[in-house]
Amino acid sequence: MNSIEKLVRPNVRALCPYSTARDEYQGTPGIFLDANESPYPTGFNRYPDPRQKALKARVSALKGLPAENIFLGNGSDEAIDLMFRIFCTPGQDNAVVIAPSYGMYAVAAGINDVSVREVPLGQDFALPYEALLQAADAHTKLLFLCSPNNPSGNAFDPLRLEALIKAFPGIVVLDEAYADFSAKGSLRAKVPEYPNLVVLQTFSKAYGMAGLRLGMAFASSYIISLMSMVKYPYNISQATQDAAFKALETPVDEAVREIVFQRERLSAALPSYPFVRKVYPSDANFLLVQVADADGLYQYLLDRGIIVRNRSRVRNCGGCLRITVGTPEENDKLLAILADYEKSHLR
Ligand SMILES: *Cc1c(COP(=O)(O)O)cnc(C)c1O
Repeated sequence: MNSIEKLVRPNVRALCPYSTARDEYQGTPGIFLDANESPYPTGFNRYPDPRQKALKARVSALKGLPAENIFLGNGSDEAIDLMFRIFCTPGQDNAVVIAPSYGMYAVAAGINDVSVREVPLGQDFALPYEALLQAADAHTKLLFLCSPNNPSGNAFDPLRLEALIKAFPGIVVLDEAYADFSAKGSLRAKVPEYPNLVVLQTFSKAYGMAGLRLGMAFASSYIISLMSMVKYPYNISQATQDAAFKALETPVDEAVREIVFQRERLSAALPSYPFVRKVYPSDANFLLVQVADADGLYQYLLDRGIIVRNRSRVRNCGGCLRITVGTPEENDKLLAILADYEKSHLR
């Protein structure tokens, strides 16, 4: 057994996956009397492809990795949950996470009865390299990193991340939901080098398909085969496979460039408002902004139809709102309402 196999839960290692009718039959379409479906067309009377072959081929071309290194899930959330179910024995194993970061890691851990070791980020949300290594013990199976990180917005140095992947004794799950917006790019091309690396990406942000629920994981063919075995057989609906396949014909580079441009515009404009204490540098499509009265400003914006995320009760985010970059017109509106807020507080 190699070092990665040893990290897998014994019951999962021993698992023999459910084989669907559509797994067993491979060939040209004929008369399907194998899956107890309705023979009458509704557009959706057939089960979808459990391996998502056509969509994976398109994702493979887009992302430059073979299909055997790609998992598609019902959002990134499915891949996050699968990490716990595959690697962590409930009530026994643990996962290391950075704080502040995406809340779903701890939620999925809790659901799976896996304890979480939170390691606070350093000054200006720096990667706590040594503390992350020190947090691991013999029962640590997973380390969750998020770069660019949510809600801080910063991407970590890729060389530091690689060093951590090499040094960490468990699986490193690197969530790159916002990598398309970052000049630091993605580490998914390193998947062939590091057998303990799982990179998560999503079609929910840069690709504008949050409503479809489609996430990706990139990892060794061994880890992908475990994920395929443990997932629900038909985890991606036919509607989602078809819609995503079609949407991926259209590049998103221009939209991403516009969002990055608008991000820089907002981060240049916001510090001139006296109630803005700090705009954190962002490699993502949102800004973490520290203001004089986060609750008050949150409510003021809400009353005028602008909904932002109040992160002021999150660790190390005191006084902070998280503002997603919108269209140029939406951002204009935001800045105008902030100017009104300023005036109304000068009285
Ligand atoms: C938005 C986001 C995701 C995306 O989740 P989906 O389930 O794919 O929509 C993943 N990770 C982080 C950190 C996010 O902020």
